[in-house]
Amino acid sequence: MEDVILNRRDDATDRLIEFAEQFKGQKGKEKKEDLSWREGTVEERISHALVKGITQFIEEDTEEARKKYDRPLDVIEGPLMEGMKVVGELFGSGKMFLPQVVKSARVMKSSVAYLTPYREEEKKRNPDAAKKQGTLVIATVKGDVHDIGKNIVSVVMGCNGYEVHDLGVMVNVDTILEKAKEVGADLIGMSGLITPSLDEMIHNAKEMQRRGFDQPLLIGGATTSRAHTAIKIAPEYGNGCIVHVPDASLVVNVCQKLMGSEKQEYIRELKEKQEKLKASFEIDQGARVELLSLSEAEEKKYRIDWKRTEIFEPNHTGVRVFENIDLNELSDLIDWSPFFWTWELKGLYPKILNHPKHGDHARELFEDAKGVLEKIISEKRFKPRAVAGIWHANSKGQSVELYSDPDRSETLEKFHFLRQQRIKTNDDTYYSLSDFIAPRESGRMDYLGGFAVSMGPEVEAYAKTFEEKNDDYTSIMVKAIGDRMAEALAEWLHRKIRKEVWGYATEENLSVEEIHEEKYRGIRPAPGYPACPDHTEKATLWRLLDPEERCEIQITENFAMYPASSVSGWYFAHPEARYFNSDPFGE
Ligand code: SAH
Repeated sequence: MEDVILNRRDDATDRLIEFAEQFKGQKGKEKKEDLSWREGTVEERISHALVKGITQFIEEDTEEARKKYDRPLDVIEGPLMEGMKVVGELFGSGKMFLPQVVKSARVMKSSVAYLTPYREEEKKRNPDAAKKQGTLVIATVKGDVHDIGKNIVSVVMGCNGYEVHDLGVMVNVDTILEKAKEVGADLIGMSGLITPSLDEMIHNAKEMQRRGFDQPLLIGGATTSRAHTAIKIAPEYGNGCIVHVPDASLVVNVCQKLMGSEKQEYIRELKEKQEKLKASFEIDQGARVELLSLSEAEEKKYRIDWKRTEIFEPNHTGVRVFENIDLNELSDLIDWSPFFWTWELKGLYPKILNHPKHGDHARELFEDAKGVLEKIISEKRFKPRAVAGIWHANSKGQSVELYSDPDRSETLEKFHFLRQQRIKTNDDTYYSLSDFIAPRESGRMDYLGGFAVSMGPEVEAYAKTFEEKNDDYTSIMVKAIGDRMAEALAEWLHRKIRKEVWGYATEENLSVEEIHEEKYRGIRPAPGYPACPDHTEKATLWRLLDPEERCEIQITENFAMYPASSVSGWYFAHPEARYFNSDPFGE
């Protein structure tokens, strides 16, 4: 009875956990000094190496186990799976954290890779019928390119005995469903980060229903939520069920429920909860979301006294490309907190390094990250690219018109900024980003900036070199650092614009912390975010800046930027410019 790994703890697992805990606190650096764990049995050593993520001895231990067991498959299904069971137990009970699990997977993969030629040989004699927990087909949906979360889920599932078919990013529903049929998937996973991916998931769920699929569909990614899943996606897929999996630490448990004997009961409860949530949302909606008409909202717009306000004339207008950007300067500007969130360690940097529960793990992860970052910098692995423009501009209602020159001889483009319309109780101002740009009738010329930056296709290419070496840990690390460096580049460029190109803040001298707290004058809202939730405005930004030609940043049919480690947005220089939420259903 091997069907449930996590929920059933047997004596063997208990002993291995005890063995692992004996060496608790022994970390990377001390590894060489205390090698007493090398005196255990081969099973104990493999388990220890898995739990601690130590690859150093795994080949020799695997070889020893291979000789001891009848078939190479027995090593996988014996000591390796036993060891991973311990990892699963510790992770499931909150004693182990995601970075370590991904490191454990690296040890597992090295061992399996070592055994592969022996398995091939053995297969010739005996077809290899490996036991597996189930088969998962997983992908990032069409139009979306973000894959760190999906990759983490693939690794966690793979090292828990599932056969995982990861189809990559920007995958349309036909490809996902064809693969699911071909491999006889038990479970299908779809991931996405940008808001248009939510609609993509609804569409995909409808397709699964239409084509008669009934496998559980797992949904994950930053913008997905329990509420959206229950209200918008689940009703489309009555044949099956939709499970929102908010983080990787939950996925194995959910899948085991979906594969085990309690499946029907679990699905029934899940559907019941989702229906309740949907019903309560509908009642709430009736009462809560009342909108002002657009003209009423416009009456209550944020008013700036344009006669008195200072409008700083930029030192340079037009579009320019920034080259030879120093990676060292960027690394100093990294905001590390979101890096830890990627690895599911909650908290703020630098405080997280002394967190009572996971400070040790955060420090170890941070050391690893710094090691990878140093290599990226010294070997110049990433190639930062940046383009920015500043244009003459005036607002007109919710729109902002851009002109070729101060005489407005040519209108270059027009941006549309959604105005808040959802009735408020706390204040009576209904913002649109256009409120921060002087209206044409004020008689004054104003300016709007725009930018796009990227760490380039090199991030993915470098990550891939580690994937090929079965090192998902470093691969995911490279991508997470790529994202951090792209954000740092956005910060670097914004500062350069404020201090030099636009030049309204020549005297600014903020610390890195103050920059992260956005203590500077002006804002740089990003399309798709709450003040400007419409991603399609990126099309206009792309016509103006041409980041595809100049920086190799493409936009997908759903307006995700590709490569993923890219950032774009606008620059508003007015001191009162601020962020808000203009999504009628947002908070
Ligand atoms: N230091 C962070 C920066 C990104 S989050 C990091 O390294 O990840 C802050 C950015 O999100 C802002 O610069 C802006 O581009 C965007 N943003 C935040 N709130 C927003 C809102 N309400 N509307 C539009 N953009 C917003």
